Amino acid sequence: MTIDLTFDREHIWHPYTSLQKPLPVYPVVSAAGCRLTLENGQTLIDGTSSWWSAVHGYNHPVLNEAVSTQLTKMSHVMFGGITHQPAVDLAKQLCQMLPPSLNKVFFADSGSIAVEVAIKMALQYRLSQGQTAKTKILSFCKAYHGDTFAAMSVCDPHDGMHHMFRSQLIQQLFALAPISTFAGEWHEQDALSLRTLFLAHHHEMAALIIEPILQGAGGMRMYHPNFLRVCRALCDEFDVLLIADEIATGFGRTGELFACHHAQVVPDIMCLGKALSGGYITLAATICSEKVAEGIAKGQAPALMHGPTFMANPLACAVALASTQMIANGPWQSQVKAIETQLKLELEKVKQLPMVREVRVLGAIGVVELNGTVNVAKAQQLFVELGVWIRPFGSLLYVMPPFIIEPAELTQLTQALYAVCQQPIIDDTAPMPGA
Ligand code: PMP
Repeated sequence: MTIDLTFDREHIWHPYTSLQKPLPVYPVVSAAGCRLTLENGQTLIDGTSSWWSAVHGYNHPVLNEAVSTQLTKMSHVMFGGITHQPAVDLAKQLCQMLPPSLNKVFFADSGSIAVEVAIKMALQYRLSQGQTAKTKILSFCKAYHGDTFAAMSVCDPHDGMHHMFRSQLIQQLFALAPISTFAGEWHEQDALSLRTLFLAHHHEMAALIIEPILQGAGGMRMYHPNFLRVCRALCDEFDVLLIADEIATGFGRTGELFACHHAQVVPDIMCLGKALSGGYITLAATICSEKVAEGIAKGQAPALMHGPTFMANPLACAVALASTQMIANGPWQSQVKAIETQLKLELEKVKQLPMVREVRVLGAIGVVELNGTVNVAKAQQLFVELGVWIRPFGSLLYVMPPFIIEPAELTQLTQALYAVCQQPIIDDTAPMPGA
């Protein structure tokens, strides 16, 4: 039986697309290692790790085993009034990987929910302290933190994908995106303008939320580690909680286990997701410090008021435990370093193409920024013809492959980028789906 693409087109919403003017979708029947197999038998080398999550590749024997073993015990049980081994083991594993002060784990069901919970923690902490004026979250232009309403309220307010909801969202505070690039020189202006904002608004700030080192779905911008240090210092000086959204960057993607490590900064609250479960099952976590947990507990409502039905799903926790153990004990560091070196080398010639504005590489992330908006349908078709899966967004083509990718497979990805960047794929009138 073939996948009914007509039904799909007429009845199923895909991410960031219209049902009236749907973009083509490609039917995938299986995936293994770094390859997706289409229904027609063609295989594609995956350059996206399924939105940056499948760091160990697909159909991994260790991860498969973790899921099937757990499945024979129980696939789900409520977390209210009950606990289980996978949740306890995973929380222990996370506490071992994180800085010691981050040791209170809340399991959430997706990255966006992990951000909602982080914001709720910060607000409940302020209420508990009687700091009723500190109700706002400071975020940044070009930030992306998810698609739910509190998460949308801290996404880029101008040209992010949620700006049409602006009037319905909680009004937060926004600072300029840092201009100092990761490997470039440090511009003191970045610190000065942030300080000005703190001076004017600290009395109303509950927390600052930031994607450490890489502003991801808001533009794939890699910024200077000093900026994160400045954020930490200002948060300390003005009694503001620091929330690090490591959903995209956590578990090695940028070359450090967590991107905060690039700046030796420890946040008060950290959000994890995506690679947490090796890309197998949706799972995220919000981890806070003793100080935050204690602060909340001292309040009128000492409980953290959140508890989703599928909280700490045992299948998800079991596979996340296996995935994080593989990260803790495996060769991710040398794999990511090798990917970085190869991307830097092979994307050099892409930089020279007239359509290309900039090439940026950090860890297992290669970004090609073009001079205009990419026609996703057209570019994706060209990539598929070349045997690779790369999903453009906005003016960006990027690769974030599984860490296990072979050098020859990575070369196929960079060659495809080189070839597609010479085709007429820029179309500023084309619909622009998200990352
Ligand atoms: N925060 C960041 C930094 C992200 O990159 C994403 C997803 N791209 C999210 C939050 C939201 O995660 P999810 O899609 O799992 O809700």
